[in-house]
Amino acid sequence: MALAEILQNIRDEEARVGRAPGSTRLIAVSKVQPLERVVAVLDEGHRLFGENKVQEAAGKWPDLRARYDGVTLHLIGPLQTNKARQAMELFDVIETLDRPKLARTIARIKDEMGQCPRLFVQVNTGEEEQKAGISPGEADTFIAECRELGLEIDGLMCIPPAGEEPSLHFALLAKIAARNDIPELSMGMSGDFERAVAQGATYVRVGSAIFGDRVYDT
Ligand SMILES: *Cc1c(COP(=O)(O)O)cnc(C)c1O
Repeated sequence: MALAEILQNIRDEEARVGRAPGSTRLIAVSKVQPLERVVAVLDEGHRLFGENKVQEAAGKWPDLRARYDGVTLHLIGPLQTNKARQAMELFDVIETLDRPKLARTIARIKDEMGQCPRLFVQVNTGEEEQKAGISPGEADTFIAECRELGLEIDGLMCIPPAGEEPSLHFALLAKIAARNDIPELSMGMSGDFERAVAQGATYVRVGSAIFGDRVYDT
């Protein structure tokens, strides 16, 4: 599937469920993709991208930003505290704020730098041991803690467990966002972005359906 086709699918689903056209934005997840594929999507005019590793993003996006105006970059992978500063310099949105220690670190660096990326809290809706994110039962308290530290929480993000119906997880994320007055919802990937649009996603994160399969070095 190409970029244009995915954008069309998103618009079709918005129309089908009665959402405003353009209310779901498409994050092109460029992690691990060969540079020429990323450049091709930039040349098509797309400007919103996601990366899951700080180091990898640092290796390609400063150069790409110098060549293309108006790029917006989201961090969608786990963030170690010792990489927080670099992430805050590199990304426009950090989607993976998920623990008090990281919130305190980001708040401190925000005070030093006088600026901060937009922040989303990652929720581990499936309460999976191996997955990052705050558990749903602790989300309200954690969001309140972040706000007390002076951090604005603009969105929630989730990655549903493989093999479960994602719509239930998207609905849970939407519910937590609504009761905490959080406007943005980052949910849905290549296999389920239409269902995320139906549940109110304001961002979907699509990688392989745009760029083709990721090729990892083994
Ligand atoms: C890789 C990744 C995606 C994109 O996955 P695809 O299945 O290739 O669309 C979305 N979200 C996160 C957090 C990812 O790490």
